[in-house]
Amino acid sequence: MKNLKSNCLQSALIISLIMVFVSCSKKEDTVHGFTSTKPGAVPFVTTFISDINADTLSTYTTWLQNMQPRFMLSANRRNIAVSIKNKFIQLGLSNTVLDSFYITNYYKDTTYNTWQYNVIATITGSLYPDSLFIVGAHYDAILNVPGNPWIASPGADDNGSGVASLLEIGRVIKKRNFVPKSSIQLIAFGAEELNMDGSNDYTTKAMLGSKKIKWMLNNDMISFENHPNQPDWKVNIMDYANSAALRVSAENYVSMYTDLGKAHDTTANKEGDSYNFYLKGYKALFFISSASTPYYHQMQDVVGNCNFPYCREVTKVSCAMLVDQNR
Ligand SMILES: [Zn+2]
Repeated sequence: MKNLKSNCLQSALIISLIMVFVSCSKKEDTVHGFTSTKPGAVPFVTTFISDINADTLSTYTTWLQNMQPRFMLSANRRNIAVSIKNKFIQLGLSNTVLDSFYITNYYKDTTYNTWQYNVIATITGSLYPDSLFIVGAHYDAILNVPGNPWIASPGADDNGSGVASLLEIGRVIKKRNFVPKSSIQLIAFGAEELNMDGSNDYTTKAMLGSKKIKWMLNNDMISFENHPNQPDWKVNIMDYANSAALRVSAENYVSMYTDLGKAHDTTANKEGDSYNFYLKGYKALFFISSASTPYYHQMQDVVGNCNFPYCREVTKVSCAMLVDQNR
């Protein structure tokens, strides 16, 4: 009996140890809204993106909303670009520049000739400095009739949220002193709303230069989600004729690093800066909420109508792709 009891104790001890080991290795990271043991997830990347923070995204979006009007024909447009540039520099992205271009636009029967500005933050790659991985988002905003975008254009979801994602990715990269193998650019595009001029200028110049663009991810309207429960949250990833494989890869990152559902509705894929990259032959994707916002180009497109835990999850996807493919 004694031996049996001893064997039972030994067995119980071994079983207990196994259970502790299993429970430790399956530990869930509920704070950040996803399980750290998703198949295929790389611990380095999971840890890295766990720094992406909903409150910081909200703070950046509020800051952008308070700069209104952010209309591309407003006299303050250069000041806005300089403010975004200075924010990148404050975050430690010292290689941030304004890239200017001169355009003609027709708006409400009037011709406007203006200087416009892209804000480009570069983190130079250690091994392949001439290869570029790009995440972009436009910073200008507009207001539909009967609103007057010169007076007010809050543009929190469209597209303060996308610019906030760039700043947050930059903040986390600098916080961890991450040095990528290839160069990374975080680009806040100007002059998107009337004719997508910022991305047209950038890609036109890129074709004349020597840098190789590996891919571009466009974050535009990534904070509206009206489904109350996270299992119902979805990101729509729009691709182009040359980027179906990149979209499948991005969907895998969504599965590995977030609890978001995935949608693939390309109806509006010509309506964002990624389209100009496609037109020039580069691989690009367009990330947007799959929930349709009623506040599009309205005065109600404000921070109070945004969902920043959702925005955090979408931001994680771009960040995970940048970091995983450059570590
Ligand atoms: Zn937009």
